[in-house]
Amino acid sequence: MIRIPPQRGGWLEVICGPMFSGKSEEMIRRLRRAEIAGQRVAIFKPRIDDRFDATDVVSHAGARMRAIAVSSVAELQARVRDAEVVGIDEVQFFEPAVVPAALELADRGLRVVAAGLDQDFRRLPFGPIPELLSHAEFVDKLQAVCHRCGGPATTTQRLVDGAPAPYSGETVVVGAAEQYEARCRGCHEPGADAARAAA
Ligand code: ADP
Ligand code: MG
Ligand code: ZN
Repeated sequence: MIRIPPQRGGWLEVICGPMFSGKSEEMIRRLRRAEIAGQRVAIFKPRIDDRFDATDVVSHAGARMRAIAVSSVAELQARVRDAEVVGIDEVQFFEPAVVPAALELADRGLRVVAAGLDQDFRRLPFGPIPELLSHAEFVDKLQAVCHRCGGPATTTQRLVDGAPAPYSGETVVVGAAEQYEARCRGCHEPGADAARAAA
């Protein structure tokens, strides 16, 4: 897709979708191109997500790029320094203050690329993503391949011992025994307690 970025000032791009949809891959692709073009680039990720590597953004296919793990939005803001292009991966894990922070960077003239899960495992909007989507100049919603049927997967299925995880579980579980699959709308299975939780 050909896009004409604004000629003055910065802007906000959001890359969203379920797990395995290639958000990190796309983030790395965009920021690497910016770097090759001579722009100063910084990628941030929340310190919570150390599944693969504490200091790199790593895609499930193995692509990686240097990143800065931060514990808060304030730390992110302090470490932007002279970057012209700022990537924020796993943006759904940041506190709500990430929205005004991203907008402030864009207003200051930076290109901000935010990537994250648009839905949690219950298929509810995830953290700051809805607001980021509505403020963004550019939005891409990526799909994975449904683990069940091969169709376009737009949801993340959390499994515990192979069965759909309870709807009432924590939204964020780090380093636990959960497994995740990308699934399409038709194949996504709510936890057994979903109807009760929704009532
Ligand atoms: P995300 O950041 O959205 O979780 P990544 O960029 O880390 O995604 O990983 C994308 C890669 O994951 C794909 O290129 C592919 O190699 C791998 N992958 C594993 N399972 C799937 C799946 N079900 N659908 C698509 N890609 C998958
Ligand atoms: Mg990712
Ligand atoms: Zn399916």
